[in-house]
Amino acid sequence: MTDEIERHFLGNAAGETAYRAAAERAREAAIDATNTERPFSGAEPAAIREDLPEDVLPAEGVGLDAALDEVAEDVLPHTVSVSHPATAAHLHTPPMVAGLAAESLIGATNQSLDSYDQSGAATVVEERLVETLADLYGLPESADGVVTSGGTQSNFQALLLARDAYCADHFDHIVQERGLPAEASDLRLVCSAEAHFTGEQSAHHLGLGHDAVVTVPTDDDHRMDVDALDATLERLDDEGREVFAVIGTAGTTDFGAIDPLSELADRAAEHDAWFHVDAAYGGALALTDEADRLAGVELADSVSVDFHKLFFQPISAGALVVRDRADFGHAARNDDYLNPEDSALPNLVWKSTQTTRRFDALKPYLAFRALGRDGFADVVTTVQRNANRAATLLDAADDFDLLAEPSLNTVLFRYTPRDLDDDSVDRLNTATREALFRDGRAVIARTEVDGVSALKFTLMNPQTTLDDVADILDAIRDVGRDVADELAIATR
Ligand SMILES: *Cc1c(COP(=O)(O)O)cnc(C)c1O
Repeated sequence: MTDEIERHFLGNAAGETAYRAAAERAREAAIDATNTERPFSGAEPAAIREDLPEDVLPAEGVGLDAALDEVAEDVLPHTVSVSHPATAAHLHTPPMVAGLAAESLIGATNQSLDSYDQSGAATVVEERLVETLADLYGLPESADGVVTSGGTQSNFQALLLARDAYCADHFDHIVQERGLPAEASDLRLVCSAEAHFTGEQSAHHLGLGHDAVVTVPTDDDHRMDVDALDATLERLDDEGREVFAVIGTAGTTDFGAIDPLSELADRAAEHDAWFHVDAAYGGALALTDEADRLAGVELADSVSVDFHKLFFQPISAGALVVRDRADFGHAARNDDYLNPEDSALPNLVWKSTQTTRRFDALKPYLAFRALGRDGFADVVTTVQRNANRAATLLDAADDFDLLAEPSLNTVLFRYTPRDLDDDSVDRLNTATREALFRDGRAVIARTEVDGVSALKFTLMNPQTTLDDVADILDAIRDVGRDVADELAIATR
């Protein structure tokens, strides 16, 4: 091996020197990329492509310094600056410094959480983190969990275990061995009409299809309507369906609505169905004075949590916690090379749908230790307060309509500068958001509320001030004026 190659690995002096220099260069580039004048450059994909080197894989490399410089010049300036106060579209968080420090340790130590002989203490840290989560949600001693890539994976795995537990209990059928049972076409999972799409996606991946998902209407506060749930369950019983799971959402993506979890837990128990709580968004409320809004989560058979949302950790990091460790057995595997049955060591692979797996647990672990519960409560409460203040501002403005009082930290509204028909307002809002993104002064989201096009802030940055929000509204007015002219929407 040449010295040239050695420099690319840790474990020798030349490599360590190279690592220090590259890490320093990367860190400075990251700071530049996150402290920008605008949240987005507005660059078009074709222009970005044009700027990248023609050869991604040249025969001879350009060297790490030059390659890093290229990325700093051609890539980073056209990424979306998540730490900018006007980045307010999605559940996309500015990462905490603790999480960034953890990321560099995760990368450099490169532990793999499938087996103890690839991770050592990292396995124990994940176990401790999972125990902490189980405590946070009031789950019993029997609880256990696993770190995942996020809510999608957590929800999928929860529903996989729910389906297999139900088939074992009700049809004496082991899906892991025999595939879907004859009764599969009757399996149903129930969630609110505003639940996350990953419920449907999971149903598809589980071989049940979207038709297995039955949605229940929501009330005026966008929470699952319990009377409607009762009616739905009764109807499904009459039809001879097998309800294997009820999903309660703690924090819907648009409204941040929290379903009445205790009532849902009740109904799920009555029907012998698994009760899953999708707390990917709202799970962090458990750290605040509003923890009682999650009442009922302690009754869940499983809970999905996302650390890369209101726990402010870099992507990706989530967890699935289950009430009864034994349920992981429905999908467990033993392989001679990773977790032989005769080993006394903890090998987490049996609980995961992944094999090789990152030490993402270190991010929340380090941040929990660093900030403590009070520190987290402060950050979560701050973004909620920012949303409430933004709502007040929107409500007071003549040219905006506030569509709902915030529940967590999203704000839904419409830009209504003139007396226009609904269709024109729809077109204006849709086009304004698009134009604003291209303009780059603010990144906001759009969605649909009761069939009309709406704009959305998800105020994830605790540093965003009311002045920043006012500036975003001004940017919307600025861009929106031109859009309205282009759409030739005339004042009536
Ligand atoms: C974000 C989210 C998901 C999906 O989680 P990912 O981390 O994006 O995979 C699922 N459910 C809810 C309620 C969410 O907010």
